[in-house]
Amino acid sequence: MLHENAFTFIFFGNNTMPEGTLCNKIPVNTKEELLTLLADKSGKIYYEEMSHLEVDRAALKATLDKSCKSRIRTWLEICAHCGMCADSCFFYLANNKDPKQVPSYKIQSTLGEIVKRNGNVDNAFMMQTMDIAWGKCTCCNRCGMYCPFGIDMGVMFGYLRGLCFSQGFVPWEMKIGSGMHRIYRAQMDVTSEDWVDTCQWMAEENEEDWPGLEIPIDKEDADIIYTVNAREPKHYPEDLAEAAILFHLAGENWTVPSVGWEETSLAMFAGDWEGCRLQVQAVYDAMERLKPKRMVVTECGHAYRATVIEGPYWAGLKSGKTPVPSFH
Ligand code: SF4
Ligand code: SF4
Repeated sequence: MLHENAFTFIFFGNNTMPEGTLCNKIPVNTKEELLTLLADKSGKIYYEEMSHLEVDRAALKATLDKSCKSRIRTWLEICAHCGMCADSCFFYLANNKDPKQVPSYKIQSTLGEIVKRNGNVDNAFMMQTMDIAWGKCTCCNRCGMYCPFGIDMGVMFGYLRGLCFSQGFVPWEMKIGSGMHRIYRAQMDVTSEDWVDTCQWMAEENEEDWPGLEIPIDKEDADIIYTVNAREPKHYPEDLAEAAILFHLAGENWTVPSVGWEETSLAMFAGDWEGCRLQVQAVYDAMERLKPKRMVVTECGHAYRATVIEGPYWAGLKSGKTPVPSFH
């Protein structure tokens, strides 16, 4: 049951701090919490609660001390304000070259201020920062290619989203998305049973046209482990069938894992660092368990970035590489 303006008091160390029942500093970890959040259509109550959410400045400062390392601090300091990154950003171009859309301005006025003030910021500042971090940057990294110093606003906005998430200032849809990963290890509510059923269904559905077609599940020592985007079992199961037909025609020795099959990460978009780790660890565990020679990932750029490029660091893999070589 939802109550408008319903606030609980959550204890942080010796402090009590008003928190919304939906908008708060605690990620979604249970199906019940997820359904409650989903029931708040368009986040009406969620955003009302956010307008009262207090910033835990001590926690924000502690997070900065622990996670804001020399690379980001140096980038913030050495920016020459030359504006060469401006034209690289499509938000700047699509908004009549509004100076407030220049990448360096966007990051200096948000993350730069948080670092300068050592976390001493208020609700209004965080609301505005959230709007910029999700509404005015996609973390595409393009500006970093144009900056003569290689200052990458995409990396910094990704980090800033993490700071916002830790304080509860995250868009309603993104909190739902990260909750999905925490509960289902998928960006949508697809259970392992749903996934396995869908694979079997697609194999049966097509085996008449393609004799011998199968979607092998949890086969050890295969040449290829294939992982997907949850939208495939959820909305486009024929995509799975098409991949299976290709592997079948090519005579590949392949498999899909029953657990750890999802490569996307809305947790990455949300800035939920722990959610990112949990998600990617499930895929790496599947690699360790089934020992394939390599992983092939479905068509999805953000999923590849999450599972192959960023994932090893979230999982603490010092090699910076996935447990087996991974191909798009
Ligand atoms: S191009 Fe680099 S140095 Fe110049 S304003 Fe942009 S971020 Fe700063
Ligand atoms: S990373 Fe963000 S600021 Fe930089 S070009 Fe992409 S959208 Fe613009």
